Amino acid sequence: MMHMTIDGFIFDLDGTLYLGEQALPGAVELLRTLRTAGKQVLFVSNKPLAPRQDYAAKLTRLGMPAEPEDVLTSGYVLGYHLARTAPLLRLYVVGEENLKAELRGHGLTVLEEFAGQDEKQVIQPQGVDAVVVAFDRTLDYRKLNTAYQALIKGAAFFATNPDKTCPMPGGGIPDAGATLAALEHLTGRRVDLLAGKPSRLMVEVAMQRMGLPPERCLMTGDRLETDIHMGQQAGMRTALVLSGATTKEQAAVFKPPPDWVCTGVGELIEKAGLIPPLP
Ligand SMILES: [Mg+2]
Repeated sequence: MMHMTIDGFIFDLDGTLYLGEQALPGAVELLRTLRTAGKQVLFVSNKPLAPRQDYAAKLTRLGMPAEPEDVLTSGYVLGYHLARTAPLLRLYVVGEENLKAELRGHGLTVLEEFAGQDEKQVIQPQGVDAVVVAFDRTLDYRKLNTAYQALIKGAAFFATNPDKTCPMPGGGIPDAGATLAALEHLTGRRVDLLAGKPSRLMVEVAMQRMGLPPERCLMTGDRLETDIHMGQQAGMRTALVLSGATTKEQAAVFKPPPDWVCTGVGELIEKAGLIPPLP
């Protein structure tokens, strides 16, 4: 571990450090090694379903001690950003209660459902400045209709994350990307602002937290189009792990290729010390 030149390590969670309720091989040891060496470690997740404390608690439970401040979720990043740039917007959220609480926790105004109208009719959502689309397992026709009506009247169009599906034991379930595609298709609009990976926003908040320039950071994750693409766009070194969503064959044709392709994070224990910084 001598002469390590990367000082900030950003990790995806699902499929990278753990799967379900199990830490992946080498994850616990890697984090211990990095911290012993005085490295900065940050965890990033596109999931807007739970507060940062929950992810920190899970990591801690699995042997990777973490504080809420060490975790960035797409919901947190969206709230953090809007609180600084557009704190007065009234938001209609297609999302779950935890996300609404997260956004309110940043001092933002989250509107209640528009009651008293038949959801089969044209709903007239009043005072919606922006629609926020998120992973929502309570999605229904009323929410879709309300979001649609607000968007065609010109509300801003935000989303927590673009993922089509969320990996689950035994497959995947529809994620925010599905709702986003439906609303883009319905309105002919494109989303104005995306908070999660691979957005610039998430990586900016991550670098701000670590106080390091991108060339001294390594982004590690199991998805090419989010984790790796985000790291590359930001000018970071990237490591793809094959312990999650990506096969070796998919990794082989991705351009530009990640700096490292590993079977799992355990391999980084050796490699992390050898990665030279970008010139
Ligand atoms: Mg992942």
